[in-house]
Amino acid sequence: MEYDVIIVGAGPAGSAAAQVLAKHGFNILLLDRVPFPREKVCGDGLTPGAVKLLNDLNILQNLPDNNRYRIKAIRFATPRLQMLDVPFDARHEASDFLVIPRETLDRALQQQALKAGARFEIGTVRNVLRKDGRVIGCTVEIDGQLQERYAKIIIGADGAASVVARILNPRKVNPKHRFLAIRAYVKGFKTLPGLVEFYWTNELKPGYFWIFPLRENEANIGLGLPADLYAKSKIDLKEMFFEYLNRPLFAERKLADLEIRSLKSWPIPLAGVKGFQRVFDGAMLVGDAGYWVDPLSGEGIHNALKTGIIAGETAAEALRAQRTDRAFLQRYEERSLMELGGVIRRSLWFVWGMRHTPWLLEAYFWLARHNPLAFQKFFSNLSKDFNFKFTKSRG
Ligand SMILES: Cc1cc2nc3c(=O)[nH]c(=O)nc-3n(C[C@H](O)[C@H](O)[C@H](O)COP(=O)(O)OP(=O)(O)OC[C@H]3O[C@@H](n4cnc5c(N)ncnc54)[C@H](O)[C@@H]3O)c2cc1C
Repeated sequence: MEYDVIIVGAGPAGSAAAQVLAKHGFNILLLDRVPFPREKVCGDGLTPGAVKLLNDLNILQNLPDNNRYRIKAIRFATPRLQMLDVPFDARHEASDFLVIPRETLDRALQQQALKAGARFEIGTVRNVLRKDGRVIGCTVEIDGQLQERYAKIIIGADGAASVVARILNPRKVNPKHRFLAIRAYVKGFKTLPGLVEFYWTNELKPGYFWIFPLRENEANIGLGLPADLYAKSKIDLKEMFFEYLNRPLFAERKLADLEIRSLKSWPIPLAGVKGFQRVFDGAMLVGDAGYWVDPLSGEGIHNALKTGIIAGETAAEALRAQRTDRAFLQRYEERSLMELGGVIRRSLWFVWGMRHTPWLLEAYFWLARHNPLAFQKFFSNLSKDFNFKFTKSRG
């Protein structure tokens, strides 16, 4: 049997694409190597833009309210501990910043795709099948047996270690385009009500240390840094995590009943790789598999949902036009760049500045303290999803 589309990976990118296509009435197979619910190593932070897309996909409406933590403001800190608390403008419709564990969120996304009509199968994709240079299906390991599945289009949504991407685009990517990140769920740690915290430090920047609260005195805590900087560091990610947690600024917030669970690391593929091919005859790479993560914030869920939705819509047009060739599917990448390219370019510029001009960050924070309006303008330029109302500075 030939499916219209096979989607490899049921994370945010894959499940969003599956929902869109199934709603159009196409015959969709959504494959994942593990059953749901499953954990995903992540900070669990959802920006207002991601929240809007999740509402469009009918996800948050179906999640109980006690599964989310609502954020009212963001705290940013520089290596010299200049701090800024930047509250969201509550009047802005899309101002929600939520923290929802991925175990819950991804299950809801996958379920909604199935409800729309997609078929789900547990299997690990091992290879991509091609005929005359065109992708026609994949080999999947199911219960220890290799089986073949065929489709007119394959969407590779299998994340940062994508098998589909590795086979279709075997080119090595410079490690500076990858963050290595680690996170844990920490109980018995004093959280600041309604506040997510980002700490840029000399060792991590343009990466950072974060504290994203899940409920009172429980948080997703982690850190990430570019792989090229990590290669030069003397300690591993786990040691780094504990070293940060033991710094006086954070150690004083540990409570007697401190409990650290699920400390795990995973790479983050960052957007901005020149000439990275995402579209092929009969195939597209979306989300992390397509190197779509914002290179400054490490925000990947919004871009995974967005590219998944655009790939789903493009695949629907391609199937109707009976044009599944690369030239036609290329409109997926063009539309994604139209939506995300501006913010990615500004992030790349800022990352370049942080790497090559160590004083830049401190200068921005100085500017913010002395001219809040300029900072506000700068920040809202950096991401169109945020709508901050700047009120106070610290430090
Ligand atoms: C430590 C850390 C913190 C992060 N924090 C944030 C954050 O706070 N906010 C944010 O927006 N982003 C964050 N990110 C990035 C975010 O997690 C990713 O960008 C996002 O998950 C990408 O979604 P995706 O659907 O492309 O891939 P994934 O969510 O990785 O989903 C891929 C799916 O494919 C499946 N799969 C993999 N290989 C195969 C195979 N061979 N066959 C079948 N199935 C397969 C996997 O099981 C998985 O379900 C963080 C990342 C890390 C590592």
